[in-house]
Amino acid sequence: MKALEDKIRAEGRALNADVLLVDSFLNHQIDVQLMKAVGEAFADHFNGKGITRIVTVESSGIAPAAMTALAMDLPLVVMKKQGSRILTDDVVQTTVQSFTKGTKYELTLKRHFIKPDDRVLLIDDFLASGEAAVGVHTLLSGLGVTLAGIGIVIEKAFQPGHQRLEAMGCDVYSLARVKRMDAGSIEFIED
Ligand code: 5GP
Repeated sequence: MKALEDKIRAEGRALNADVLLVDSFLNHQIDVQLMKAVGEAFADHFNGKGITRIVTVESSGIAPAAMTALAMDLPLVVMKKQGSRILTDDVVQTTVQSFTKGTKYELTLKRHFIKPDDRVLLIDDFLASGEAAVGVHTLLSGLGVTLAGIGIVIEKAFQPGHQRLEAMGCDVYSLARVKRMDAGSIEFIED
């Protein structure tokens, strides 16, 4: 997606060869016009694939996932990163290793927000090692629910997430695929 790649080139900052900072438009300040276009691009790709529900992981996935849900006119469920005292009834959980924090969290979902016959589309901001997406896959398959697609805003293609998810049979679609990066430049895999 050209507008997204242009924005990453203009405002993204590689902290090192592994972590990309995009907090001026995706993770802290949010460019809602760009997120609207992101949602429409995911809708263009996933419409007609029988998706019934969008899922994301709090918090950076919420903006692109909400715009996708709007564009596809589907409900959105946000998976939590930990249980809380008010989230006690009927939850399913799995442990996920956080790429950016290096710590573990409990990916948490209230069972009744997902229906057994749902075909779910996961939307997330980044794909790195694939831990978060594998966690979502684990929770959904535990409920007998199909993960019908994964839409990623920025994939770091030099990290193993995409291959790992495809090996599990997942349909992964990324709007920007970073081939390599360093403090001075960011290179994309062109379609
Ligand atoms: P994974 O689970 O695929 O290893 O990592 C995905 C999650 O880690 C994303 O939801 C995102 O929040 C975070 N993440 C991974 N890599 C980056 C990165 O380079 N920059 C930022 N801002 N977040 C990242």
